[in-house]
Order: sequence, then structure tokens, then C-alpha cells
Amino acid sequence: MSGQQRELDPRGQSDTRLTAGVFDVLKSPGHLLIDGEFVPAASGRVFDVVNPANERVIATVAEADVEDVDRAVKAARRAFDDATWGRMPPAERGRVMWRLADLIEQHAEDFAQLDSLDNGKPVAAARAGDVPIAVGVFRYYAGWATKITGETNTLSWPGDWLAYTRREAVGVVAQIIPWNFPLVSAAWKLAPALATGNTVVLKTAEQTPLSAILLSRLILEAGFPRGVVNILSGFGEKAGAAMAAHAGVDKISFTGSTSVGRTILRAAADNLKKVTLELGGKSPVLVFDDADLDLTIPGVAQAIFSNQGEVCTAGSRLYIHERVFDRVVEGVAEIADKLKLGDGLNEDTQMGPLVSNEQLQRVASYVDVGRKEGAEVVAGGKRVGDIGYFMAPTVFANATSGMRIVREEIFGPVVCAMPFKKEDVDAVISEANDTPYGLAASVWSRDVSMAHKVAHRLRAGSVWINCHTVIDPAQTFGGFKQSGWGRELGEEALRSYTEVKAITAQL
Ligand code: ADP
Repeated sequence: MSGQQRELDPRGQSDTRLTAGVFDVLKSPGHLLIDGEFVPAASGRVFDVVNPANERVIATVAEADVEDVDRAVKAARRAFDDATWGRMPPAERGRVMWRLADLIEQHAEDFAQLDSLDNGKPVAAARAGDVPIAVGVFRYYAGWATKITGETNTLSWPGDWLAYTRREAVGVVAQIIPWNFPLVSAAWKLAPALATGNTVVLKTAEQTPLSAILLSRLILEAGFPRGVVNILSGFGEKAGAAMAAHAGVDKISFTGSTSVGRTILRAAADNLKKVTLELGGKSPVLVFDDADLDLTIPGVAQAIFSNQGEVCTAGSRLYIHERVFDRVVEGVAEIADKLKLGDGLNEDTQMGPLVSNEQLQRVASYVDVGRKEGAEVVAGGKRVGDIGYFMAPTVFANATSGMRIVREEIFGPVVCAMPFKKEDVDAVISEANDTPYGLAASVWSRDVSMAHKVAHRLRAGSVWINCHTVIDPAQTFGGFKQSGWGRELGEEALRSYTEVKAITAQL
């Protein structure tokens, strides 16, 4: 139990704008969703959930461990084997998923507030972004349930043949999600897995279990058969590690840090689970001297500061043509200075606190490292206040490619600006690519042809032109190099949740 002040009545410590639905989640005992029922952890253990804006405990939730993971995996296996989900007519499967999307939409405000309370993000951003994205992802994949197809192939053997392929569910899928987009991450993971007929055990991040508790209730209400979706709250080293190692799991899909991704891969090796990984990034942003600066300056500021910089695709390395370098850096610094920091529940908050004290310490220590390395702080550079995990949006100028702040993922609102010369396009592309990561990049220019040529040469899974972190369920997402294995979203995600079976018949 943490030393934080315990206050289970959020109305006492926050404000009266919390919905009845949010209040209900906060005050109900923490349970796990296993086999269609809400149950306490086998150990009876619970853990505290802290509001990062005021450091107060706002709820306690069940702490799943090895035994709970085992029960959940067995429930998912039974549900997979009895095929109530897999053999349900796909149109019906799609309908259940669509019903869940409708229910999430009906509870949009509850979800926006829960993710804000839990993660710190501005409620306005959760309302405008996270919730509709999650709804859209469930609807997009609900539509795919009826469109999973195979191929017919023509054989060259003598005689008559019917040779075709089927895409079948992989089986029991374990999914581990991070804390930066709690509801969105759950939707990205669950929707393609369910559309293709898999059964699932999903674990939320220990920092942000709340929105998935409401989601669990709506999953039952939507009519998913028991055991098809199991949702656990718990810690990575215990429940997460047990999921990665469990012999009854056919596939694991993980989103989080590159180092934990490696650990999961090792644990998955024993039974050769299928593995997909969405990992870290250190995404370059290339601003050319012909860019529309009215679009570019707010765009590149948004690329790093949205969601407190806690975004795997955050545009954290800013390469700017020397002719416009000062203007862009000044513009971004001005935006940083003006961003309104505050409790995410305040309607006018533009940037909330970081998710945890650990994250605040990590980001603050990188800012110290940057100063020591000789980079110049032109905005921010410090913690704000002493209650809540607020970090001022920070802009470093005079950064150089060897610095740790340029090479390592900070996962906070810290950007490093570096100038380049137009003659050096090749050099700036190779600097942009000089990273173990390869998740995302953006190019800002009015020269459409040149922008596409640069985009082709950037080694990243997503390249945006004159925008950054534009996410749509139809557009696939994932990393090159050490940013991951496999893809989420789009049709691509369906491949990683299916096995291909080849059926060959001699006629
Ligand atoms: P961060 O370090 O930013 O918290 P992590 O990659 O550690 O990000 O966490 C992302 C998710 O991975 C969380 O759900 C966490 O519980 C889980 N996790 C952390 N460590 C492990 C592990 N050893 N095995 C499985 N899951 C883990």
C-alpha cells in the first residue's frame, strides 16, 4: 500500500463534474473479468490507482498474478475450443462488436474522464481523440468480420485439383497494453483479434487500469460469450510475465518499451508463441525551408507535446533547415511556454501531468543529461509545482546527434532541435535514420515530389507528410528495426491474428 493519502470519494478531491458512471467505477471493488464473471484476484490482493494530477489514491483494483492468468488462459481456451465465438456466423460476430462500439459511444464521457483521471491527459483530448478512435476501431473491425477470405490456387500436377487457403484464428491471444492510451490500446488489440475469431486475455498497465474496468462491463453487456474476452489488471513483472510465458497462449501481442519487448520475446520462445510487438521510437521530424510555417510550427509542436509527449510516435528529433531554424525553434518554444498545464479534468487544460512519479523523474533526469551534454534549453526544462507530476514542455536547441537526449527515447514533452543545410539532404536523411528505432517520421515541405522522395528513404513504419501522428483504423501502423514486429490496424493486423491453412483436394 502506498503512502499516498487515501480518498475513495473522488468528489471530495476533484470536482463535481465526474459522471455517475465514473464514480461507480472508482468506488466498486476491483475485480478481474475471467470467464464472463467479475472475480477478485485469487490472492485477494489489490493495488492503488493514483491520480497523477494530485497524487491521491482514487481507486483500488484487483492485482492479477500467475494463478489468475492461468484461470483466464484456461477460460479463453475453453471458449476457443467450444467455438461459440469462432463458429458464430461472422455477421453476428461483427454485430456484437458493433454493439460494443455503440456502448462505448454511449459512455463516451465516462471513458474520457476515466482515462484523464488515470493517465493525466486532458479530458478534452480524450473526448475528441481517444474515445472516438476506440469506437472507430471496433466498428472498422466489426466490418472486417465478414470479409476474412482465402485464395484459390492453380496446381501444376496432372489431374483435377481444388487448392485453396483459409485464414483461421490463431487461438488464445495474450495482449499487454501500455498506460499512454489506455482505452485506445485496448481497442487496437481486441478488435482485430476478435474479428478473426480468437479468444483473448488482455492485461492493462498497472498505472491505468480504470477504463478497461468499464470496458469489461460493456463487453458482457454487448453479448460476447463467456471466456471470449478476459481482462486483467496487474503488474508487468508478475501477471504480464506469466502471460508471456504461459504454454496455453498461442500468440502474444505487446505494446510498450523496447526493453520489455525483448523480455517478452525471450519468454515467448519456449512454446514458440507468435509474437507482435509495438515498441519505442525516437521519431525524426524534417522541416524544409519551403514548408508552410503557419502549418508547420503548430504541427511540429503538436507532434511532440500532445498527450504530454507520452506517445511512441512523438516527433522528438526536430531537424530544421538552417534558413528557417530560428523561426521554427522560436515558434515551437513560444507554443511550449503558452501551453496551459493543469489537472486533466479542467476543460481548459492543454497538457496534463505525466503518468507517474517514476515517469516524471525519468523525463526530468533526461533534461539534466541534456544540459550537461551542452544542449541549450530554450523553453521549459523543469518540473512545474510540487504536487502532481507536471513537467514543463521543453525545447532543446544546439543538440547534436551523439547526445543521449537525441538518441534515447525520453517519452515525455522534450524535443531536440538540430539545423541542416539544404545541400545536405542526404546527410539529414542518414541522420534521421541513424537510430535503432524506426517507428515514425514526418516531412514538412511544399515540394510534394521531394517530400515523397524523402518519405521513401526514411526507415520508419509510418511517415507523415505535412502532419504527424495521424492515425486511422484503415491505415496500418507499426515499426521498422527495434520499434517492433508486425503491424496493427488496417487489413495488415488481420494477418497477424490468423493462421493460413492450405487445403488441397484431388478431385
Ligand atoms: P513503461 O516502462 O513505460 O511503464 P512498459 O513497457 O514497462 O512501459 O509497460 C508496458 C506494459 O508492459 C505494461 O502493461 C506493463 O505491465 C507490462 N510489462 C512490464 N514489464 C513486463 C514483463 N517483464 N513482462 C510482461 N509484461 C510487462
